[in-house]
Amino acid sequence: MLLPSLVKFFYLVGAVAFVWGLRLLSSPDSARRGNILAGIGMGVAILGAMIEPIVNASNNYLWIIVGLLIGGVVGWLSAKKIQMTAMPQMVSVFNGLGGACATVLAAAELTKFYENVSPMTTGELGIAVFTLLIGAVSFTGSMLAYGKLDGIVKDKNVILPRHGIINLILLIIVVVLFVWLTIEGHTASIWLAGLFLLLSLIYGVSFVAPIGGADMPVVISLLNSFTGIGAAAAGLIYGNQIMLVGGILVGAAGTILTVLMCEAMNRSLLNVIIGGFGSTGGGGASTGTDDQVAKVATVNDVAIQMFYANSVMFVPGYGLAVAQAQKTVKELDDLLEANGVDVKYAIHPVAGRMPGHMNVLLAEADVPYPKLLDLDDANSALKDTDTVIIVGANDVVNPAALDDPSSPIYGMPVLEVWNAKNIIVLKRSMSAGYAGIQNPLFFHDKTKMLFGDAKDSIQKLVQEVKNM
Ligand code: NDP
Repeated sequence: MLLPSLVKFFYLVGAVAFVWGLRLLSSPDSARRGNILAGIGMGVAILGAMIEPIVNASNNYLWIIVGLLIGGVVGWLSAKKIQMTAMPQMVSVFNGLGGACATVLAAAELTKFYENVSPMTTGELGIAVFTLLIGAVSFTGSMLAYGKLDGIVKDKNVILPRHGIINLILLIIVVVLFVWLTIEGHTASIWLAGLFLLLSLIYGVSFVAPIGGADMPVVISLLNSFTGIGAAAAGLIYGNQIMLVGGILVGAAGTILTVLMCEAMNRSLLNVIIGGFGSTGGGGASTGTDDQVAKVATVNDVAIQMFYANSVMFVPGYGLAVAQAQKTVKELDDLLEANGVDVKYAIHPVAGRMPGHMNVLLAEADVPYPKLLDLDDANSALKDTDTVIIVGANDVVNPAALDDPSSPIYGMPVLEVWNAKNIIVLKRSMSAGYAGIQNPLFFHDKTKMLFGDAKDSIQKLVQEVKNM
C-alpha cells in the first residue's frame, strides 16, 4: 500500500517540477534554473518509475540500470562536447530519440497483443497503433532534419518530382492501415503492423524532405510536438501519469511554438508542410548586378561611427553563433553605453538555427533582457536608430522578403534595417545565408561591409573604441 502511494508522490513532485521548470524557462534570467529544476523533476519521475510495483515484480533492475547508465553517459558527454552552433542538431537528435522510444514501447505492447500474451480493447489498440505511427514519423523526420541542419543532406537530393502527391498517397495508405489495424484487431496480422511501421518511418522522411530553408524552424517545433504527443500516447498505453503529463507538456509547448513560428514566418502550417518554401539548399552568393558594388568599411570607420552615434542597434544572426561573438559584443555594448550611446538588440524570431537561438546566446553573455527588442518593437525603433550593426545575420534582414514576389522568402517578416541611418554588415564574405539567396541589402546606399570573422572584427572594434 505504501509503495503505490510513494510512486504517486514521486510522480506528483516530478509533474510539479516540470510545470514550474517550464514556467522559469519563459525568461532568459530564470531559464537556467528552469532547466535544472525540470531535470531534477525527471530524475524524481525516473525514481518513481523504478519503484512501480510492476517494475519491482519483473525484477529487471540490471537491464534498467545498464540502460540508464549508457543513456546518461551518452547524453552527458554529447551535451558537454556539443558546440553552441550544433545545438539545433542535438535538439533534433534528442527529439528523434524520444519518438523512437515511443515507437519501441508501442511495438513491444503490440507484439504481446498479436502473440496473445496481453489482450487490448479497441481503444487501447488504437492508442498503441497511433503511438507507433507518431513516434516513427517523429524519429525519421527528426533524423532527416538533423541531416539538413548539419548540411550532410542537401534539399535537392531528397526532394522527388511531385513530392506533394507522393506524400499525400503515403499519408492515405498510412491512415487506412491505422484504421484497419485498430478495427480488425487480431484478424490483422503482425506483418501488417510491421508494414505499417515501415511506411510510418518512410513517411517521416518523406514528410520532412520537401521542407527546407527558411521553414526549418517550423518543422523542428512541429516534430517536437509530435514526440510529446507520442510520449503522452505511450503514457496512456501504460496508464503512467508522469509520462502522460510530460508528453502533454512537450506536445502543447511544441504546438504553441509551431503556431508562433508560423505567425513569425507569416505562413499557415499547411502552406509550410506542402510548400517546400525556401528550400533552395543554400550555398549561393550575394552577387549584385554589374552596376552593384558593395561598399567596404574599415574597422576605424565603424568604430568612429558607433562612438559618435546616439543609438546603436545590434542585429545578431547565425554568424554570431558560429563566431561565438556574444561576449565580445557585450563588451563593445558596455563600452558604448559608458560613452552615452543607447544600445539595443533586434531579435528576429527565426534568427540563427533554432527557436530562441539568439536569446540563449545573449543571455549567456549577460545582456539585460530589456535590451532585446522583438521584431515589431525593433522595426519601430529602427527608424530612430543611427547605426545598425548586423552581426552574421543575412536572411532575416533581406528586403526581398518584402519587395520581391519572386523571392523564395517573399512574405516573411524581416527586420527593416534599411530604415536606420547607417548599416554595417559584419560577415566573412558575400556568401548567402541559410535560404541560399542573394541579399540586396549588401548593395544598399546606406550599407557598408566589414569583412571578417564576427568575433575577430568586434574584438578589433573594442580595441579601437578603447583607444578613442
Ligand atoms: P543566415 O543563415 O541567413 O546568415 C548567416 C550569415 O552569417 C551568413 O551569411 C554567413 O556569411 C555569416 N557568418 C557565418 N559565420 C560567420 C562568422 N564566423 N563571422 C561572421 N559572419 C558569419 O542567418 P540568419 O540568422 O539571418 O537567418 C537564419 C536562417 O536560418 C533563416 O533562413 C531561418 O529560416 C533559417 N533557420 C532558422 C531556424 C531557427 O529555428 N531559428 C532553424 C533552421 C533554419 P559568411 O559565410 O559570408 O560569413
